[in-house]
Amino acid sequence: MVRSGLASCIYRGEALQGELVIDAHTHLGVFKDYFIPKADAQDLVAYMDRFGISKACTFAFAGVNSDFRYGNDLVAQACRDYPSRFIGYVTLNANYPEELVEELERGERLGLQGIKLITAYQGHPEETERFYPVYEWANARRKIILSHQWGRPEYLSELARRYPQVSFHIGHLNFAYAPVVRRHDNVFTTTTFVPWPGAIERAVREFGAEKILFGSDFPDLDASLNLGPLLTAEISDEAKRLILGRNMERILKEHAGGNVR
Ligand SMILES: [Zn+2]
Repeated sequence: MVRSGLASCIYRGEALQGELVIDAHTHLGVFKDYFIPKADAQDLVAYMDRFGISKACTFAFAGVNSDFRYGNDLVAQACRDYPSRFIGYVTLNANYPEELVEELERGERLGLQGIKLITAYQGHPEETERFYPVYEWANARRKIILSHQWGRPEYLSELARRYPQVSFHIGHLNFAYAPVVRRHDNVFTTTTFVPWPGAIERAVREFGAEKILFGSDFPDLDASLNLGPLLTAEISDEAKRLILGRNMERILKEHAGGNVR
């Protein structure tokens, strides 16, 4: 286990300092199935500071299977309150197909920069045709779309080919997608849900360090679960810096309208 370089903060019990850390998968607000006290924007910023997380791509739990407009408004407010700390994503609900593009347009006006999909929690398969208007809309505007999962690897591969201007992010680490991630410049995986030793080393071997984005799923999962194995992985500090924030920084410049503070 590596104890020097970027990993040394773990043994000192201190936050990362002077590093660009962008969390590609985080949540705002409460959720009916989890107990998450202190999950508003102010609490999340304090939580990020504890670890040295610079910025968080965040989406609301409200909207996963309740009021998506309310949830997206919460995210927009968090981005207004902490413009240098949050990159807001619009959460869409597959149960309201006639409102998808309308909500994307509304989110755009609110300054939200990415799109979050989680159809499995809404009673629809990932491969639903309902989202084709969403992909068209996102492709025309070079948006990021993060989905909990993307269905069959071949399906994600087809989407990546048909919508080359979209940056497709896989919401949870799933090695079945590794060939698709390597094949397409516009497909990336997050590290989200990595509690086992060796997973990061394997991810770097199978996906490539430049295609992996740190994502912790805080506050419902603890960021330490994800940062620990990443910081202590037997990979170079340079590879760790790509995963921690440099890859996402480049994507945000190309896919979030260039207005990332
Ligand atoms: Zn999540």
